[in-house]
Amino acid sequence: MPIGETVYLNGAFTPRKEARISPLDRGFLFAHAAYEVTAVYGGKLIDFQGHVSRLGNTLDAICIPNPHDAAEWETIHRRLIAENALDEGLIYLQVSAGAYETRDFAGPDLFEPTIHLFADQRPLVGEAARTGIKAIFLNDIRWRRRDIKTTQLLSQALAYRTARDAGAQTAFMVEDGFVTEAASANTWMVTQDDRILTRNLSSDILPGITRAHVIARLRDLGMDVEERAFTPDEAYEAKEIFTTSAGALIAPVIQLEDQPVGTGAPGPVTRRVQRLYYEAIGVDVEAVSPWVLA
Ligand code: PLP
Repeated sequence: MPIGETVYLNGAFTPRKEARISPLDRGFLFAHAAYEVTAVYGGKLIDFQGHVSRLGNTLDAICIPNPHDAAEWETIHRRLIAENALDEGLIYLQVSAGAYETRDFAGPDLFEPTIHLFADQRPLVGEAARTGIKAIFLNDIRWRRRDIKTTQLLSQALAYRTARDAGAQTAFMVEDGFVTEAASANTWMVTQDDRILTRNLSSDILPGITRAHVIARLRDLGMDVEERAFTPDEAYEAKEIFTTSAGALIAPVIQLEDQPVGTGAPGPVTRRVQRLYYEAIGVDVEAVSPWVLA
């Protein structure tokens, strides 16, 4: 997928090919960095307040001073969208703890962050959203602070490789007998008696911004969402499964390991959630995603 030619690095909009970050950067040496990924649709930022607020929480938790307030972050995002003529895709943001003269684990008292953003043009309401994806189960081997969004992503990178080798597009992570979340998305299921479940928030999962938006919309409509953990066996029995994330919005999961989920095609609740979310972000559903109306 094409990454935009203009990036933002430490205060300047720069040609990507000229952007340079120190090899001693703590993001590179220790994965000491926060990141955010915000969806852009029709050139507009989606759920931005949620992303910027979660960024603040992550930075606090990893001792990096937040270099910008929400309005400044928004200005940088908007300018990057304009510079790259980004219509549909993602803005990736990373704030690391910066580079120093030594590789010292604890580092200086006060960190001077490295700030890096780039634009990533890609379809968010595309083929995978229409036809669905396949998932495998994997042990969740991540660290304990999954409630903050740091660049410690090696286990997820490896999970995606394992999923790909298995012919799947994502992995559902399992810990102590329960699904935590997907490799880079929150997981949802619809039970045989039509209850909608998604795991409750704790340090075990990322508090997804898309998840929060979907919960709010469903509750506005008077629909019940049960926030609790579910097991792989419950997932195998589900009528429907889907994931939520800024990167793939609402993705139907139509196969788990070698078993179809429900009928093996995206179900009515998933379609309804897609429609609600797409309409909320300004998708012309009749033209772009008529399949949510079926
Ligand atoms: N869980 C994990 C592990 C993620 O990496 C992500 C997104 O990247 C999510 C959940 C979904 O969060 P959001 O909806 O804020 O993108």
